[in-house]
Amino acid sequence: MIQRDYLIIGAGIGGVSVCEGIRKYDKKGSVTLVGGESFYPYQRWMLSKQFLRDKTPPLKKLPHVDERWYQAHKIEARLGTVVTQFNIDRRLAVLGNGETIEFNKACLAMGSRPVRPQVAGIGLGNVIYLRTIRDALALREMSISEKMIVAVGGGLLACEVAASLRQSKLKIAIMHRHSSLLNRYLDPETAAWVTEQFAKHGVTLLMGSSLNGFEGKTVLRNIQTKSGERVAAGVAVVCCGSEPNLEIVRNTPLSGPHGSPVTDYLETEEKGIYAVGDLAFYPDRLMGGMRRQTHWENACEQGAVVGANITGKKRQRYEQIPYFWTEMFDLKFDFVGDFNLPPTRVGLSGSYAKGRFALRYFQGEKLRGIVLCRHSPNGVQAAKTELRQALGK
Ligand SMILES: Cc1cc2nc3c(=O)[nH]c(=O)nc-3n(C[C@H](O)[C@H](O)[C@H](O)COP(=O)(O)OP(=O)(O)OC[C@H]3O[C@@H](n4cnc5c(N)ncnc54)[C@H](O)[C@@H]3O)c2cc1C
Repeated sequence: MIQRDYLIIGAGIGGVSVCEGIRKYDKKGSVTLVGGESFYPYQRWMLSKQFLRDKTPPLKKLPHVDERWYQAHKIEARLGTVVTQFNIDRRLAVLGNGETIEFNKACLAMGSRPVRPQVAGIGLGNVIYLRTIRDALALREMSISEKMIVAVGGGLLACEVAASLRQSKLKIAIMHRHSSLLNRYLDPETAAWVTEQFAKHGVTLLMGSSLNGFEGKTVLRNIQTKSGERVAAGVAVVCCGSEPNLEIVRNTPLSGPHGSPVTDYLETEEKGIYAVGDLAFYPDRLMGGMRRQTHWENACEQGAVVGANITGKKRQRYEQIPYFWTEMFDLKFDFVGDFNLPPTRVGLSGSYAKGRFALRYFQGEKLRGIVLCRHSPNGVQAAKTELRQALGK
C-alpha cells in the first residue's frame, strides 16, 4: 500500500494551488496529486477564448506551471488516473488502476462537469460540451467542416464560445430561453446591450427558445425547441451550467446538495479533509450566506488557503470578495461581488456608447456588486476595496 502525508484529488487549478501552498510551509511531506485528465493542471479558462480563436491551438500557453516544477518540488502527479473510492474512516483512496493510497490528510479538488440536459438525442454525435482540452480540440475540429454551430445556453460559456467561433468567421447561433444574454448576471438594460453586440457581430440569436431535444440518426441534424421549431445544426455546444464532481463522497457528510460543505478554513466536517474550488460550499463571511463559486480566482485562492492550513503550520480563513471575469469580442467584463439576486437599483458610470462603463448593483441601500466593462486590473482591485468598505469589512 502507498502511504502519503497529503493526497490531493483532482489536478485542476484548485488541486495544483493546494500543492503550491503545501510546499510553502512543508518542504518534505509526501504529496500525491491524482488527476483524471492526462494533462498537467492547465488554464482551463483559455479553452473558450484564445484556444478556440487562434489558428493553431496555443497548447504551450496552457500549463499552469511547467512539468519540471512537480519534480523540483517532489509532487507526485498521477495523471490520467481517477480516484474511484474514498474511505473516510480508514483514510484510504482506491485508484482506477486498483492501487490504494493511505493518506494522513486530503483535499477534494475534483471540480465540476457540464450539466447534461435530460432531453431526447443528448447522446447524438456532434452534441458536445466544453470542459477539457480534448473537448476544445474536438470542437475546433468539428467546427471547421460544419455549416452551423449552435451554442445552447445564454450564460458566460455560451457567449464566450459563440464570440470566439464568430471571430474565427464561423457561422454560429445562440439558443437561449431568455430574451437577453447573460441575464443571470446583468441588469436588463445591460444584458440587452450585450445581446445587441452579439447581433452586430453576426451571431444568429435564437432568443426565447427553450431546448426540447436533438434530432438525427447518429449525428445531430436539428435542434428542436419547446415551441416546436426545428433549427438545422451541425454541432451543438451544450452550455447549460455545471455540477460538482462529488460521486466518490456521495452519501457522506462531505457531499451536500450545493457542493461539499466546508468551514471558514475550508475544512470539511472530517478533520484533515478539505475541499476547494468548484465543489466547495463555503461560508462567505464578507457577503454573507453560504456560497459555491465556479470561477478561476476562487479555486486558486482557496487552493492557497488549504495548502497552508493542511500543513498545520498556518490557520487561515478564506475571506475573499467573490470575483470572476469574462471576455467576448472586444469586451472584457469583471464581476466583483454577489450577483445571485437581481439589483433593486443600478448606478451607471461611463457609457454604453463608448463600451467602457462601471455598474453598481444595490439591494435597497446596500452595494452588492460592481460590474466593470473594459477596465484595468487596477479597476478590479479598486472595486474589491470599494465593496469591502461598503460592507464595513
Ligand atoms: C471553457 C471554460 C472557460 C472558463 N472561463 C472562465 C473565466 O473566464 N473566468 C473564470 O473565473 N472562470 C472560468 N471558468 C471556470 C474555471 O475554469 C473553474 O472555476 C476552475 O477550473 C475550477 O477549478 P477546480 O480545480 O475546482 O476544478 P477543475 O478545473 O474542474 O479541475 C478538477 C479536475 O479534477 C479531475 N477529477 C474529477 N474527478 C476526479 C476523480 N475522481 N479522480 C481524479 N481526478 C478527478 C477532473 O478531471 C479535473 O481535471 C471556465 C471554465 C471553463 C470550462
